[in-house]
Amino acid sequence: MTALLEVAGLEVAFAAGGFTWPGQAARQVKAVNGVSFALNAGETLGLVGESGCGKTTLARAILALTEKSAGEVLFEGERVDRTSLMRLRRNAAMIFQDPFNALNPRMRVGDILAEVLRVHRKVPPDRIAARVEELLVLVGLSGEHARRKPATLSGGQCQRVGIARALAVEPKLIVADECVSALDVSIQAQIINLLIDIRSRMKLAMIFIAHDLAVVRRLCDRVCVMYLGRIVEEGATADVFSAPKHPYTQALIRAIPEIDPAGSLPRNMLPGEPPSPLDLPPGCAFHPRCPQAMDICRSGDAPVLRPAGEQRAACLLYGGVRH
Ligand code: SF4
Repeated sequence: MTALLEVAGLEVAFAAGGFTWPGQAARQVKAVNGVSFALNAGETLGLVGESGCGKTTLARAILALTEKSAGEVLFEGERVDRTSLMRLRRNAAMIFQDPFNALNPRMRVGDILAEVLRVHRKVPPDRIAARVEELLVLVGLSGEHARRKPATLSGGQCQRVGIARALAVEPKLIVADECVSALDVSIQAQIINLLIDIRSRMKLAMIFIAHDLAVVRRLCDRVCVMYLGRIVEEGATADVFSAPKHPYTQALIRAIPEIDPAGSLPRNMLPGEPPSPLDLPPGCAFHPRCPQAMDICRSGDAPVLRPAGEQRAACLLYGGVRH
């Protein structure tokens, strides 16, 4: 079976700026570094990791909203390039982190949705108003909201409009980028329930980007854990949460506040901050923070993903293969 989406060796590099001597090559930061994974139709993949690990850049590169510097993206087996980009655009949509800023403040909600329907020619012109109302009802709003402007809506209502706008293209794939992190905790639960409902009703595939692992555990079939631009662990959600293999994943999972979400984090959290992407340490980039680091972890190339129990992990504890 062909995967809905395949990502192979994807890299995104940015110029680092700063001073360079004449003749010296400009320094680059690899925000995404050799990422590969596949996503099947109807599957939900969680992309987790600390802020700045490259999750959002990866998602934007998959949807060709950010230019990749190497690697390939295939949608339904077809390579995404300039000529096939419109096909991806007709089948994939993104839900953004900031629900207020993602909507044009000068437009009424109904016009925001109608514009998408018109551009993608999803319904005949005389059906647009009815379809706008259907979309609003689908996300738990009503036809009355079509006349409102974003400034008159709550954060949760704005995010529902953002979801309706994504659904207007009748996508096969939705990429949700930290789409609840700007909302109150009680509203977050409502939006997550809405996404679960819509996903099963419409059989959508979803890439769900989050730093909140408790949400990912509830929503996702599979998880990719990212650290400094690379995937360091990948597996079924149940396996990764019950038996995390990479020491970084183990630390993230230990940090989930199990009972009281507002409670303090456990004492055995990871020490320190991730190193600067501009100045990555040799060997495994996680070694300065890893409680299980060995001498071989501190030199050579970064470890590659390889089988570790039911999942795959990029860690020399599970074999000595490097990039
Ligand atoms: Fe820790 Fe070494 Fe594994 Fe990196 S390769 S996660 S430093 S044990």
